[in-house]
Amino acid sequence: MYDDNCVFCKIIAGQIPAGKVYEDDLIFAFHDINPAAPTHILFTPKIHMESLDSVNPSNIKYVSRILEKIPGIAASFGIAGGYRAVTNTGENGGQSVPHLHFHLLGGRKLGLLG
Ligand code: AMP
Ligand code: ZN
Repeated sequence: MYDDNCVFCKIIAGQIPAGKVYEDDLIFAFHDINPAAPTHILFTPKIHMESLDSVNPSNIKYVSRILEKIPGIAASFGIAGGYRAVTNTGENGGQSVPHLHFHLLGGRKLGLLG
């Protein structure tokens, strides 16, 4: 549930400050500290799970909730209909924080790789 060594677990627990965007019983969203676009929000499950490779029938509800909420939050930031939602998996996938997260990027024209 909570990993002592995980920066995103600490953010979710309120032990490290972050710019909270949204929270409910399953997920927590906050502004990326190093934004790659005018809007760059990270969506995380409130339990520690490493990546998309960790998804199984008992925790898929966290991913479902993230995907359910992204369009409305994108709209609230003025980027409805023009954004990217992506998750990086593992070192070769470009993942640097091993707590599953979806990036929501928008507010400029995004190229193929960003
Ligand atoms: P990834 O490389 O896909 O694992 O994405 C990790 C993201 O987390 C990067 O875009 C970082 O800028 C972001 N990040 C790392 N530490 C923090 C933090 N303390 N608060 C907000 N975002 C963070
Ligand atoms: Zn974690």
